[in-house]
Amino acid sequence: MTLFPEMFEPVLSSSIIGKAIENGIINVKLFNIRDYTNDKHKKVDDYTYGGGAGMLMQAQPIYDCHRAILDEIGDTSIRTVYVTPQGSLFKQKTAESLAQTGNIILLCGHYEGIDERVLEEIVTDNISIGDYVLTGGELPAMVMMDCISRLVPGVLSNEESAQTESFDDGLLEYPQYTRPEVWKSKSVPEVLLSGHHANIAKWREEMSLLRTKERRPDLYENYCAKNARNEGEKAQNIDKNT
Ligand code: SAM
Repeated sequence: MTLFPEMFEPVLSSSIIGKAIENGIINVKLFNIRDYTNDKHKKVDDYTYGGGAGMLMQAQPIYDCHRAILDEIGDTSIRTVYVTPQGSLFKQKTAESLAQTGNIILLCGHYEGIDERVLEEIVTDNISIGDYVLTGGELPAMVMMDCISRLVPGVLSNEESAQTESFDDGLLEYPQYTRPEVWKSKSVPEVLLSGHHANIAKWREEMSLLRTKERRPDLYENYCAKNARNEGEKAQNIDKNT
């Protein structure tokens, strides 16, 4: 649900997402909120009560647009996500949960945002893509669509597999290299050319830990705490069983 459907077209017709839509693996339908306004001048926003700068999107067009979508889908249990800087942070785990959901409605705000009353009526989830404010919800909705879609079976080919990516196990991915073997006097780490799978896996695990520690100490600490807990639980279970 957006006031600017044209912003989505380049993203939805390109690359992996474009192909997935063309092949019918995912389905995206854009609803222009302006098409549902009762205002004869097609107005969809107005000044905020209590004063303050900027315009607010009105309740009626959004509510009627949402009703039309529910009627079309025939599924009243569908999740309606308002993309908003006031939502909980969008993470890989959020994408994994939404990828299992089936249909999702994404509501994009614009200007100063949306009249609270319609949000209370229709929104099931409030999600933010980060602690900063954008001009509209279209980019956040596209970020979410991209991230959720690539988790849908069949969207990525085997070559593009999403199996060992950053965040899978709470760590960042290890560094990767492709041809040529030497570039600007920099050689690909020798272990990767060895063909020794166990050593390669060990090197990757170490690099993944190191990279996470350097770049995302917050993730690294969580990972260590979780592993220490798991090790502790394992030890307790062993004690119990002996
Ligand atoms: N006045 C609002 C506030 O302070 O929370 C911000 C409105 S913002 C200028 C306009 C729209 O952009 C919002 O309604 C929302 O849909 C979208 N938006 C902006 N930043 C966002 C973010 N970090 N994550 C998700 N949506 C965002």
